[in-house]
Amino acid sequence: MIEDSLARKAKKQLYKAAKEMDMDSNLLKILEKPMRILKVSIPIKLDNGKIKVFTGFRCQYNNAKGPTKGGVRYHPEVTEEEMVALAAWMTWKCSLLDLPYGGAKGGIICDPRKLSENELERLTRRYTSEIMPLLGPHIDIPAPDVYTTSKTMAWIMDTFSMMKGYTEPSIVTGKPEILGGSKGRKEATGRGVSIIAREFFKAKKKNLKGAKIAIQGFGNVGGHAALFLSQMGAKIVATSDISGALVDPNGLDVPGLIDCVEKHACIIKHPGKQIDREELLLQDVDILIPSALENQIHLKNANKIKAKVIIEGANGPTTPEADEILEQKGIEVIPDILANAGGVVVSHLEWVQALSGLFWEEDQVNKELERKMVKAFKEVWEKSVQKTVSLRCAAYLVALERISEVYRFRGMFP
Ligand code: NAD
Repeated sequence: MIEDSLARKAKKQLYKAAKEMDMDSNLLKILEKPMRILKVSIPIKLDNGKIKVFTGFRCQYNNAKGPTKGGVRYHPEVTEEEMVALAAWMTWKCSLLDLPYGGAKGGIICDPRKLSENELERLTRRYTSEIMPLLGPHIDIPAPDVYTTSKTMAWIMDTFSMMKGYTEPSIVTGKPEILGGSKGRKEATGRGVSIIAREFFKAKKKNLKGAKIAIQGFGNVGGHAALFLSQMGAKIVATSDISGALVDPNGLDVPGLIDCVEKHACIIKHPGKQIDREELLLQDVDILIPSALENQIHLKNANKIKAKVIIEGANGPTTPEADEILEQKGIEVIPDILANAGGVVVSHLEWVQALSGLFWEEDQVNKELERKMVKAFKEVWEKSVQKTVSLRCAAYLVALERISEVYRFRGMFP
């Protein structure tokens, strides 16, 4: 059996939920296609004086609920179809969390680890100027994603502001606090993952304290999820990043790992027993949290997964084929559009703060994040019980029913 491409995979998930809710076939015709995609060439001068032309994308999938929102990814394997799938997932995620946003995603095909800081800045600024016609605080608002950071967002904000002739902090989220970034944004996705884990264990009447967890990817999402879950009393017994994987049945030293990543940009310099990166996913744990990239749990390894529940910190880490195998094995999957939504929830709060010019304390941000995540979890859990469907299908149902309502009221232009 050959696995589907990412875009077909995203569509498969949409069709499954559309069938379950008996979606109007005319609406499905709209939702199965992205609204617009811009492909741009990005010429920059390298430090050695030569010109290199990169390719970038920005896909705005659907804006029925409001301006589109989504990250910008710098990675050698970025493709147009990956952007479409990720933008579709952003659309469903924003709807599931009841945010006034549609979904988008952008990216540049590049290996940021092979570019200097100055080259990355020129790349970001030229990319911003190329996608400028699509950007605006009420049109499309970028945020960080894989291998982009608050610094990248500061460059996007500055470039947009320079081209407009006035300073516009609400054009991006995930920016440094001094530029109007929100307190708690950096930690928000990982914190959200930990809230969802806690709520799931509560719903199952199980104790999260002492639960064994393996986390693939120790970046923004994985590192913060590890920190908050260990603070809740769970044991992070294995983790990995691009440099390798570490295990410790007694629980890894999470603050030590975070320090190691800050100093060396990798986990492997931290003391601990090393295993193969692929082995990380196959650990005998209570919770597995894939927090790196798409398609990590697939036809070839799904059967070997021993975790009792998978919480998708990354976007699209489980293929639909693997999903079916996991379902047969009785392994529950908490889907990406719910599990990693903490980031976009606080991005929304950051946008609100920047638009109003009134900034919140971290407690207030975290309280609102907690409220939104718990509410979304409850809606998904109840829908899953009511319809006897998987948590993924239930999350899609909640998201799509909301979008259908929006279309019912808005009607069709012209
Ligand atoms: P990041 O760049 O901060 O971290 C990515 C991590 O994955 C790094 O530790 C990297 O070394 C590791 N990694 C890469 N390839 C790997 C491999 N083959 N095996 C093991 N580890 C590998 O990125 P991030 O922001 O943490 O994003 C991770 C995932 O979470 C992505 O799917 C992203 O779309 C999703 N996500 C991020 C946010 C956010 O707020 N940052 C929000 C929602 C979803």
